[in-house]
Order: sequence, then C-alpha cells, then structure tokens
Amino acid sequence: MSAIVSNLQAVRERIAKAASEAGRSPQEIRLLAVSKTWPVDCVIDASRAGQQLFGENYVQEGVAKVLAASGLNLEWHFIGPLQTNKTRLVAEHFSWVHSIDRLKLAERLSAQRRDALPPLSVCVQVNVSGEASKRGCTPSDALGLCQAIAALPRLALRGLMAIPEAAHDFAAQRVPFRQVRQLREQIRDAGVPLDTLSMGMSHDLEAAVAEGATIVRIGTAIFGERDNA
Ligand SMILES: *Cc1c(COP(=O)(O)O)cnc(C)c1O
Repeated sequence: MSAIVSNLQAVRERIAKAASEAGRSPQEIRLLAVSKTWPVDCVIDASRAGQQLFGENYVQEGVAKVLAASGLNLEWHFIGPLQTNKTRLVAEHFSWVHSIDRLKLAERLSAQRRDALPPLSVCVQVNVSGEASKRGCTPSDALGLCQAIAALPRLALRGLMAIPEAAHDFAAQRVPFRQVRQLREQIRDAGVPLDTLSMGMSHDLEAAVAEGATIVRIGTAIFGERDNA
C-alpha cells in the first residue's frame, strides 16, 4: 500500500475522531487534499483511494494537473493567492476558489465563468490573526464583501476561509477558528446564507473540526513534507 493511501486513511480517521468528539457527523466535513508541489501521479494515487477533492495554490501548476487528470472526475479547488491577471484560467478550470479577499477578484471571476459551467463556488478569506498573515479581508470588511459577492451572477458564495497563525496547543488553536465561526453566524444573521467553513490544515484539523469546519485542507499529512512551503 502506498504511503499516500495509508496517510489518507489516517487523516480520515483523525477527522472522524475529531467529529465524534465534537458531537458532529463526519459526513459534515469534506477532506480537500492539497496537492500543491506534488506531481499528478500523487493525485492519481489518492484518487484511486477514493479521494475526490483536490486543492492547488498556483495557477499554472494547478491547471496543468486539472488537465492531466481530466478523465478522473475530480473536484478542483483553488486555495492560493490570486492575481487579477490570472483569474480567467481559474474561472475556466476550477470548481471552487477559497481565497477571495477583494471584490475585484470576485467580479472578474464572475464575468469570466462560462455559462456552460455551474456557478463557481467561492469563499471569502478572512484574516483573523491580524498581523500574522497579510492575506484575507479584515473581519469588519467580511459582511460587505459577502453581500457584494452574493449579488454576482456566476458565483455561488459558500462561506469563509481562514489560515490562522500557527499555535501549538489545542485551546490556542481553537481561538481563531471560533472567531471565524462567529463571523459566519453574524453574516448569516444579516441575511447572507453561508454553508461552508474552510479551515484546518495538517497540524490543526482537530481544532478546526471542533469549531465547525466543513472543509479541511490537508497537504503534508497526506502527501508528505514539501521541499518549500
Ligand atoms: C499548503 C496549504 C494547505 C495545506 O497545508 P498542510 O500544512 O500541508 O496541510 C492548506 N491551505 C492552504 C491555503 C495552503 O496553502
């Protein structure tokens, strides 16, 4: 059995255990395998083990894998920083974008999403850790951005995404994830439906699941250490 297959099994068990400890059904949590920097053969190995959702950070690399694996019926999520001059490729080849942090990106993706494809599912990336990461909108800008995106015709606004600063103990890891969950509740209360919380990576998925994650984005624990992050 390849390492990827046994790693996937171990990650699924971590998710199931974290879900049961939180009184949640493991079916509420989708596993996004982050295949950035890994060759398409690794994607194919994981897909043979039943993995269907894959995440990529870099446009060129991601599109190459989407095309190379096009016969496999996979669902591709773009999760990295996105420049406005690269939106067209993402609108054409991905099903989801998790990293929307400004309206301009969303407007371009909506305009560039072809009618033959289903609406592009998107999440607003929120920076809840303040100075730690420069990416993501501020929590106070999130509602306005969500309202504006919800009005765009070719996007389906799904939820919020966050990459908090690394913390080592479980209680500390939960704090930013809880802030994201509460922010989603405020946005829902304001009348914008959101069904997704994209949060949790290899080192903190348990804390994210405890705070309501519906998509966890896992790279290292499935594919191994990357040469450069
Ligand atoms: C690389 C990456 C991940 C996966 O991180 P791991 O620590 O390898 O699990 C998740 N989300 C984003 C946005 C990433 O860039």
